[in-house]
Amino acid sequence: MIKIDISLLIFFYILFSAVVILLVWITAGYKEKRDFSLKDVEYIWKCMVCSNVYINSRHEDISECPLCGSYNKRD
Ligand SMILES: [Zn+2]
Repeated sequence: MIKIDISLLIFFYILFSAVVILLVWITAGYKEKRDFSLKDVEYIWKCMVCSNVYINSRHEDISECPLCGSYNKRD
């Protein structure tokens, strides 16, 4: 008969829980990251005057460059 120590049982229980939480966290993190990067592409603007690349999260046809202050139109 195999004798199992209660502390060993608790250790494995905590380890298993941690692995499950970690897996869920990583999976959720990857999904969130992918969604963010897809959304992020829409927000990237390139200034026609100074070629500055910046992010404007507002969904507008015209965006103001934070560097030179000129207005850029959505392609
Ligand atoms: Zn600019």
